[in-house]
Amino acid sequence: MSFRARLTLIYTVFFALALLLLGCGTYFAVRQALYAGVQRELSAATSQVRAIFNAGGLEPIRTPTGELRLFLRVEFIQIFNNPNLVAQIFRTDGELLDSTPNLGNRELPLPPEALLLGPEDVGTGYSVVREVGGLRIESLVTPLVLSGNEQVVGLVQISRPLRDVDLTLGVLTAMLISGSAIALLLTGLGATLIAGRVLRPIDELTRTAQGIVNAEDLAQRVPVPPHQDEFQRLTITINDLLARLEDLFTTQRRFVADVSHELRTPLAAMQGNLEVLDRGGLRDAELATEAVIDMRRETGRLIRMVNDLLLLAQSDAHVELRCELVELDTLVLEVYRELRPLAQGVHLRIGNEDQVTVKGDRDRLKQALLNLGVNALQYTPQGGSVTLSLEQRDGFACLSVADTGIGIEETELAHVFARFYRADQSRSRHSGGAGLGLSIVKRVAEAHQGYATVASQPGRGSTFAIWLPLAMQHDLVEARPVDETVQV
Ligand code: ADP
Repeated sequence: MSFRARLTLIYTVFFALALLLLGCGTYFAVRQALYAGVQRELSAATSQVRAIFNAGGLEPIRTPTGELRLFLRVEFIQIFNNPNLVAQIFRTDGELLDSTPNLGNRELPLPPEALLLGPEDVGTGYSVVREVGGLRIESLVTPLVLSGNEQVVGLVQISRPLRDVDLTLGVLTAMLISGSAIALLLTGLGATLIAGRVLRPIDELTRTAQGIVNAEDLAQRVPVPPHQDEFQRLTITINDLLARLEDLFTTQRRFVADVSHELRTPLAAMQGNLEVLDRGGLRDAELATEAVIDMRRETGRLIRMVNDLLLLAQSDAHVELRCELVELDTLVLEVYRELRPLAQGVHLRIGNEDQVTVKGDRDRLKQALLNLGVNALQYTPQGGSVTLSLEQRDGFACLSVADTGIGIEETELAHVFARFYRADQSRSRHSGGAGLGLSIVKRVAEAHQGYATVASQPGRGSTFAIWLPLAMQHDLVEARPVDETVQV
């Protein structure tokens, strides 16, 4: 079942329930009011009979045989000349004594329960609804009591056919049912139309998304509806999603191209060296040494790249990091020592060196700082300088690498930390990086609840920094070998 049909059905069912409640409520309220009216009529007539009885209008007469009779007087009959109400006088044993002429030849016996009425029931009486000759009739029976000795001398039964009540209720029921059916039909139609209108933007969205899938063109965007509503937000979100997917695919495509190129270069160089050795290079000691040195360098480059990829893959898979106290000042010294052999013609030095300790993975932090240092040396021409610094600032440890190198264009700055991004294809290619170094730096900083920043001026140099939260005082006091871990 389509969502539109489901929506229509749910809406109609709820409306039907509301109609049912309203219909039942109306029916029972009207029914109650009509029966109360009938009861009032019967009570009023009964009071009238009793008044006439008390005024002597219904005199008990003893026949010569000693039987007690009650007769309706003519005045009383005139009062009761209402075709809707029938009055009957019964003996206490249930025998009909007299009745108003509008009863005709119909029989309307006293209900047996009425024979049990005593003088105390004068006020309430006994009422009953029966079907006589296919006609529903409501009767109210009350005892006639002689004042003085409180003796029940007879019973008066006032009856009223319920034809008009039944007719009114029948018409009301028919109206409620037919009205509800029409209302439900209209609601169903309206709900279908509304659901169609409401879901039209989703249909359009689906069609466009399908078009994008079919055309495999992530550069397409879904047209944004003009009204500021949920659909506009949904469309914007989908467009954002498409933009991110496009970005991801572009990056990935570039990554595959870059990695294959980066892999091809050292492998081709190694193959060339192997051919040299094969073609007699082994007999020439100098040539052999040169080939081995070349191959070692290329192998090192391959290992470095594979390590970088592995690290990023691990961080994507949320592999846990070590969490230990790391003295950053000794780490800076260590990195300085490792970078010194690479600083050919570049003045490598240590700037500020505060004593700062953080909690984290020492190896990863060292690798991040090494990446920054290697980059700085790579992109700084001979005669320039690279400065490693460690400062404690605003509750953070700031590890920075400043160089006086070629710098980075402002348009490139926002992207340098992106994975596989190379600011300038030609110069990076020469340096041999695959655009992974800075993304590792960023990832490591974030894994330590810190962040990485860059400031650069083309032609004048760049400063990269890793900001890490300081270790808490109690961590420093405890200073125990911790086996806790943090997630990348
Ligand atoms: P790569 O391995 O290609 O160096 P990185 O992620 O380390 O990749 O760096 C991304 C890009 O940022 C590099 O291609 C380079 O152009 C630029 N870059 C990084 N560090 C520096 C720097 N110190 N000076 C100038 N450009 C830099």
